[in-house]
Amino acid sequence: MKNFGLDIWSNKNFIIEDGQIKLNYKSMPSLLQITEQIRSQDIRGPILLRFPHLIKKQIRGLYSYFDKAIKINNYQGSFNAVFPLKVNQFPHAIEAVTSQGAQYNYGLEAGSKAELILAMSKTPNGANITVNGFKDKEMITLGFIAAQSGHNITLTIEGLGELETIIEVANECSLKIPNIGIRVRLHSVGSGTWAKSGGMDAKFGLTATEIIEAIKLLKSTNLLQYLSMVHFHIGSQMADIAPLKRALREAGNIYAELRRMGANELNSINIGGGLAVEYDQHTHSTSRNYSIDEFSSSVVFLLGEIMDAKDVKHPNIFTESGRFIVASHAVLITPVLELFTQDYQEKLLNLKENGNPPLIEELIELNKLLSNQNCIEYLHDALDHMESLLTLFDLGYIDLQDRSNAEILVHNIIKKALYLKSANPTDELEQLQVKLQERYLINASIFQSLPDYWGLGQHFPVMPLHHLNSTPLRAASLWDITCDSDGEIGFNPEKPLYLHDVNLDEEDYFLGFFNVGAYQETLGMNHNLFTHPHEYTVNINDTNFEIVNEVESKSILNILKSIGYDKEKILNKLKTDLSSSDFITQKEKDDTLAKLETFVQQNGYLRTTN
Ligand SMILES: *Cc1c(COP(=O)(O)O)cnc(C)c1O
Repeated sequence: MKNFGLDIWSNKNFIIEDGQIKLNYKSMPSLLQITEQIRSQDIRGPILLRFPHLIKKQIRGLYSYFDKAIKINNYQGSFNAVFPLKVNQFPHAIEAVTSQGAQYNYGLEAGSKAELILAMSKTPNGANITVNGFKDKEMITLGFIAAQSGHNITLTIEGLGELETIIEVANECSLKIPNIGIRVRLHSVGSGTWAKSGGMDAKFGLTATEIIEAIKLLKSTNLLQYLSMVHFHIGSQMADIAPLKRALREAGNIYAELRRMGANELNSINIGGGLAVEYDQHTHSTSRNYSIDEFSSSVVFLLGEIMDAKDVKHPNIFTESGRFIVASHAVLITPVLELFTQDYQEKLLNLKENGNPPLIEELIELNKLLSNQNCIEYLHDALDHMESLLTLFDLGYIDLQDRSNAEILVHNIIKKALYLKSANPTDELEQLQVKLQERYLINASIFQSLPDYWGLGQHFPVMPLHHLNSTPLRAASLWDITCDSDGEIGFNPEKPLYLHDVNLDEEDYFLGFFNVGAYQETLGMNHNLFTHPHEYTVNINDTNFEIVNEVESKSILNILKSIGYDKEKILNKLKTDLSSSDFITQKEKDDTLAKLETFVQQNGYLRTTN
């Protein structure tokens, strides 16, 4: 895994220089530099960094590729995009999306009442709002209010019932009527983990029969002129472009048919989201088999072709890609708290003055004389001795100190052998490496910060922020600080992660998890009552960087409050119990009370040296 697969997943957003990973932008600060600046303010625990310039890059990329394809294909419709709020509704992410997207008239998509309220308050004037998902009369009325308030809003109906409600609201009030979209139920299906949005049994969308019914209904109520959009969404993280092409053909033909049936104001096709992000660290193109260039060309070309064949005016194109826009903008940084085999450091050897068992003496020699030439032979001897020593221990012939010495010596021999042969390890050494994997305890919760790893096995690129001048040799599994055995990213020999052997008593070691900006924050859960990490926005300029928008991780008392406890009562109970206890001086009592107050105001992540 050269450079931790940086060339595969990072899209040139980061580079390695001077042994550190740096932002490949303007003044090019290193992630370590940013992390250390934040930690100098006594911040501990995991940190989430947002980089607005990476959102801008994605928005610009999306628009420019579509604009290019439109020019090349002489396509007559326009390109429009909205950001689906469900992908990341957090204030500083949305602030970055709307500010960076303003020049493109980038809008927002809402899938629930709360998201619609958010969209109505955050969409720049003139930009589009699209509304998907199941809607009741209230949500539909909200759509009318948005239209009345000047928003360019399209309510996409997921079923005939919603259309009937729109007609009902239109009859009951004189508010401006929003544009209407129809989500079509495609027979072609998507591909990839998240592809559940297509097919005959799909959760969403109208069948051909229902579409015809809808047109009749709109005609008979004189509302057909509000029908403006045909919509589909074939699922997130599309691995393959073929299903999209099938969906485009299907939806394109439905569009053309509707125009022929008299829907004269119908002018847009919304192709939903689904643009995939490369999360892989080991091999190219396993997450997706297409580029943004191919994606945009295919969409524009196919729609043009279908419309030309049916002699229908080219529709405006809408996309709702979310993951593609925000995944790369956020990086999770976690300190490593502990390496479990640090227990095997050579300095912990406690050899006996008056003689060690003969096999231990031999291990001492092997450890001393191990070299490039004899390494494999000595390694075999050491492993053999270890077996014998463990048997001797079980039979009562050697004591616990001997056993500890043996474990330390053998561990060191294996480590040295791995190091000596790191350039071209034998199969045996590689297997040993896997067996001897190091467990890195990270100060974070996988449930909170990487929920798709826990729920779907989604891999996120991970690498250390520093030490990148030296080859990492320890096969690594990552353990989080929840007490749940699922809070572990195990070592996978197929897609191995190797990390450095660092002495955490002497230095810090930080890991970065990348492409965590889509879905992870809202899906994150408070397992063990760990809440969201400290969060910062980092703006990078030509000479420097600035850290703004600090959002502190919730304090312990506020975590308890958020699930319904009375935090005053809890604190008072703790204080009263301590105050009425015996056998310590008033001074110590006061000091301890003060400590207690501090503890409950901190977040729940660990505050050891790291
Ligand atoms: C979830 C969703 C999206 C966003 O999908 P991404 O894969 O994140 O691009 C877009 N449109 C609809 C209707 C959705 O449900």
